[in-house]
Amino acid sequence: MPKVTKPKSTRASKTSAAPQPSLPLATTIDAARDRAARCKACDLYKNATQTVFGDGAHKPKIMFVGEQPGDQEDQQGRPFVGPAGKLLNSALEKAGIDRAKTYVTNTVKHFKWEPRGKRRIHKKPNGTEIAACRPWLNTEIALLKPEVVVCLGATAAQALLGRTFRVTQRRGELMKSSVAPFIMATIHPSSILRAPEQTRHSEMARFIDDLKKLTQFA
Ligand code: SF4
Repeated sequence: MPKVTKPKSTRASKTSAAPQPSLPLATTIDAARDRAARCKACDLYKNATQTVFGDGAHKPKIMFVGEQPGDQEDQQGRPFVGPAGKLLNSALEKAGIDRAKTYVTNTVKHFKWEPRGKRRIHKKPNGTEIAACRPWLNTEIALLKPEVVVCLGATAAQALLGRTFRVTQRRGELMKSSVAPFIMATIHPSSILRAPEQTRHSEMARFIDDLKKLTQFA
């Protein structure tokens, strides 16, 4: 039996940023991916190369949810293939979890960025964009039925656990949830890449410790 922490307030899991749709937007994950490729429900599609839908096992027990695709994900059309994805792969391997048996997606499916010289710099999605994209995330969860949803970073955690949820206070807690049987939040791997060199190693070790709590589902 997984060691479970009840959310301190039931309000937390009921204050999601967007309303829950009653039905998924497609009946299969491949059909959902096809439909999402043409989505224009918010403006983010205008400056992105393509929709980056979730990717992974068709019957995953673990679903990871990040914030949004980055520059390389936008170009390749797959989630977590850039530097943060490589760090996630490394942490998963050290935690003893096979990424191929999981499903990885994002709260928002288009890359939001602003130019800085020749570079495209990540820009945080706003509440309207997160709400517009929420039906796709709900569809992925409804169709794939993971046993545990893992929020990587504050954007995913606040979308799925409520705007008052703080990853810094609750990271690594396995909680019962209406989203999936269990939900857990931890940091986004990109925060380790941004951490000062002196703390990067300890941040990575802590991240791996959080992921080890998922081995019971792997
Ligand atoms: S970010 Fe989401 S809601 Fe907005 S256009 Fe892309 S897929 Fe549609």
